[in-house]
Amino acid sequence: MKKSVVSKEYQKLQKDIIQLQEQWKTSLDPDCVRPNLDKAAMEAGVPVTALAAIDFDISLFLQWIEDIGVLLSKYQPEIETSMQSIKSLLDEETAKRWIDEAFAFNYIYFASFAEENNLDGWIPQFVAETVLRPYLQLTAAKVQDEIQHGVHGAGCPVCGEPVRLAQLEGEGKKVLHCPRCSAHWNDRRVACSHCGNNDHETVKILTIEGESAAQIQICEECKGYTKVIDTRQYIVKPTPAMLDLNTIHLDFVAQEHGYKSAGETKQTN
Ligand SMILES: [Zn+2]
Ligand SMILES: [Zn+2]
Repeated sequence: MKKSVVSKEYQKLQKDIIQLQEQWKTSLDPDCVRPNLDKAAMEAGVPVTALAAIDFDISLFLQWIEDIGVLLSKYQPEIETSMQSIKSLLDEETAKRWIDEAFAFNYIYFASFAEENNLDGWIPQFVAETVLRPYLQLTAAKVQDEIQHGVHGAGCPVCGEPVRLAQLEGEGKKVLHCPRCSAHWNDRRVACSHCGNNDHETVKILTIEGESAAQIQICEECKGYTKVIDTRQYIVKPTPAMLDLNTIHLDFVAQEHGYKSAGETKQTN
């Protein structure tokens, strides 16, 4: 099995971005996120961030966009022009709209924003998502103690990101980890983490040659997959975002076999 499906350059950029997000997160005022834990909403699968009050500091937001622009331009100098136009387009109102639409996974809004302003299609959404994550991670850190379980089919209970990554802990307990906001919650080992199906005839394991600590759990009912990584032997446990990145080849394997990448199941409203 080839591990290098994704270029080293891409992996390095992603690593740099994750590092930058860590720095940003520490510069946030912890009181800027005020979660409202509504049990009924959580049981209905409404992500915590949808009901949280979050004060966005627009000047910080714009600073981060500048930071990410500098980083991206280091890898792809031609991006610099696009980042300059984004900077001039983002007045306070547009910045707020970006935050709302990034929350709502509104791909359509960002695609039309790119088209209207002659930007590469991927840039606005990518940038908005990147600068939103520290807020999501801060929210997750605040409510983690209250998050035990998710609702199958609803994705991450904190941010709504579709499930794709689990770690084995303790006696082999399956704990789902969200690479987007770093929340974690428990799930039954044998159940499909997307639809909850626990029929051993239709929930199966794809083992990967040469990978003793990694499996892909697949479900014939919903065609979803979850990467299940046994990190109990790891001396240093990576963050969910790093673990997700380091196992990206497993996503390719699952998708090659016809199982759905998490993002594809997400409704954009
Ligand atoms: Zn999440
Ligand atoms: Zn399923």
